Amino acid sequence: FNTSSYGQHILKNPGVADAIVLKANLKPTDTVLEVGPGTGNLTVRILDKAKKCIAVEVDPRMAAEVTKRVQGKPEQKKLEVLLGDVIKMSTLPEFDVLISNTPYQISSPLVFKMLAMPHPPRVAILMFQREFAMRLTAQPGDSLYCRLSVNAQFWARCTHIMKVGKKNFNPPPQVESSVVRIEPKVGSERPNVSWDEWDGMLRVCFNRRNKTLRASWSSREVLNMVERNYRLFCSMNNIPLEDGIAEDEEEEENEDMDVDNVGPSAGDEDEWGGIMEVDAEADDTPSF
Ligand code: SAM
Repeated sequence: FNTSSYGQHILKNPGVADAIVLKANLKPTDTVLEVGPGTGNLTVRILDKAKKCIAVEVDPRMAAEVTKRVQGKPEQKKLEVLLGDVIKMSTLPEFDVLISNTPYQISSPLVFKMLAMPHPPRVAILMFQREFAMRLTAQPGDSLYCRLSVNAQFWARCTHIMKVGKKNFNPPPQVESSVVRIEPKVGSERPNVSWDEWDGMLRVCFNRRNKTLRASWSSREVLNMVERNYRLFCSMNNIPLEDGIAEDEEEEENEDMDVDNVGPSAGDEDEWGGIMEVDAEADDTPSF
């Protein structure tokens, strides 16, 4: 049982805990999802302001601790503790606001799980490693501008709101942290495109650093993949193939293509989205 993999860095500065919850602008009617309540430093502040807090905690000992912290108090009935890994939960309950001192290894999957929800929350206030926060909020031209920046800012407004030094945690993490506000776009603001197709396109665009878009899109692998997907799309939609795109040609040759691990899969119905699939676990890697 190795708790170090849970990223358990407890916030010990009450001022930072206050600020995080304050930045969420909670309303008395809000249901808040907190990921990783730990010993409950943020949880008790959330319970003070919101109607309800649903806290998802993977470590049973921490789940017991946060439960104990409110036992016998009026806040007890406002707190629901769910034991489990938030990323593995197939559906999340509905909530208005997401707050988390995020375990660093789930930063990217958590952000994208939230943004892909049919009804994402009004706002998320999340603590991340500084570099992840800077990538999330980077603008075109910044050195940290990457697929994560484009993807997150396509679906949401992302703002850096506060730097938090290592010394505010126990035990202190290796790196500095930052708090970010993420406001998912809703209604007509929310892009009406397929999540997977958009991400797949970005994967090609950001496949190689310092490569022009033209070069990325003219590589043989990418052209083959696009053609293969187009052919499948046509066959699924009864569209006759245009001149120049030969039917069933080079089928075998395409088999071993692998563009950043997301080459087309073998002819199942996911293949049209085949450039994609949000491989969120991989998104935390520096290659992003
Ligand atoms: N919220 C507390 C605080 O700010 O002091 C603790 C934050 S600590 C950085 C991260 C917490 O998330 C730990 O309690 C850890 O057990 C929990 N955790 C780690 N991975 C998780 C996961 N996949 N799902 C839910 N909770 C997780």
